[in-house]
Amino acid sequence: MATVNENFLKLQSNYLFADIARKVSAYKAEHPDAPIIRLGIGDVTRPLPPAVIQALHQATEEMAHADTFRGYGPEHGYEFLRQAIVEGDFAPRGVQLDTDEIFVNDGAKSDTGNFGDILGGDNTICVTDPIYPVYIDSNVMAGRAGNFDGQGWSRITYCPCTAENDFVPELPAHPTDMIYLCYPNNPTGTTLSRAELEKWVAYALQHHSILLYDAAYEAYITRPEIPHSIYEIPGAKQCAVEFHSYSKTAGFTGLRCGYTVVPKQLVVRTASGEEVQLNRLWNRRQCTKFNGTAYIVQRAAAAIYTEEGRSQVRETIGYYMENARLMREALTAAGLQVYGGVDAPYLWVRTPDGLGSWEFFEKLLTEIHVVSTPGVGFGPAGEGYIRLTAFGERADCIEAMRRLGQGLF
Ligand SMILES: *Cc1c(COP(=O)(O)O)cnc(C)c1O
Repeated sequence: MATVNENFLKLQSNYLFADIARKVSAYKAEHPDAPIIRLGIGDVTRPLPPAVIQALHQATEEMAHADTFRGYGPEHGYEFLRQAIVEGDFAPRGVQLDTDEIFVNDGAKSDTGNFGDILGGDNTICVTDPIYPVYIDSNVMAGRAGNFDGQGWSRITYCPCTAENDFVPELPAHPTDMIYLCYPNNPTGTTLSRAELEKWVAYALQHHSILLYDAAYEAYITRPEIPHSIYEIPGAKQCAVEFHSYSKTAGFTGLRCGYTVVPKQLVVRTASGEEVQLNRLWNRRQCTKFNGTAYIVQRAAAAIYTEEGRSQVRETIGYYMENARLMREALTAAGLQVYGGVDAPYLWVRTPDGLGSWEFFEKLLTEIHVVSTPGVGFGPAGEGYIRLTAFGERADCIEAMRRLGQGLF
């Protein structure tokens, strides 16, 4: 008799976006003329940069001729892209990496979810709260999360990030093995300083923990003192892997490409204390379960590192960050407490008058026809907040903020 992996049955259904969609369509059905503006979306809206489109066309043409056609590529990515990554994303920040420490993938969701494959099934987990749900759910699937008590999982340590601690998580009181950090953060839009990151690296080195560092929003950092990579912190190569994505950086949410950095210095122990190089293990895992990202997509990603690609990407990010600035200003002027939106395309807004996340969501929907995301959907510490994204059209952001300015509360 075949049985199922019952860990999957433990997963809590994440109804967040389905619930939002249902509430919005119910409201629309009753108020068909309501001019609804969606600022809840976590997807980009600007088209791919021209340099990327040109690279796609060119690579597609290569695929049409026998002498330039490409079949299976290297599982860990083409050397031209790994080289561009090492030279473009790390060398300028003083981080020296070898190309074989870069693993090109089809996006950061895959690898943040898959990386646990090569780590022990008994490892304890630590996450900041609120958080991107993939880190928790992938560990539930792997059987590491323990049991759900209605709020959280018994074998997961939650480090709350709220206005009260200025969104700076405290180190876990007990040693934990696998620590997920995402900075700039989704959903709060906040960052950690170099000094704070140093604490996490020191903690990980002391306890032989591994940091799983998600840098998907690295390109949105504007303040020069904020690190873009965990490897800017000395010692991080011995304790951290880092996930990158071209999705939010360059509009690749539909094209699919990212990469994971697994330094050769990073070792993790067997139960009997023997050291194992994770780079070697991850390479083995990828060669077995992954056959690489499309050649044309890797050519498209490499185009981001050309001079024109870079400036086009900067322009798109500038567009979103101008949205963020306008929104921050208007929300603050409306008397709301706003966090994020400076080094990230997310604004994390405290609900006024002690309203719950869902109550404020309803108020914004029914009074000014703006769709947000209730913060509690990202974890218990998200209660009392909503998330707005700066990924919308400029005109929509302006109109939504105009309505907010006309008085809501
Ligand atoms: C969007 C996002 C990603 C990127 O996902 P892709 O699979 O690369 O599209 C990764 N981490 C976080 C926190 C995100 O919000």
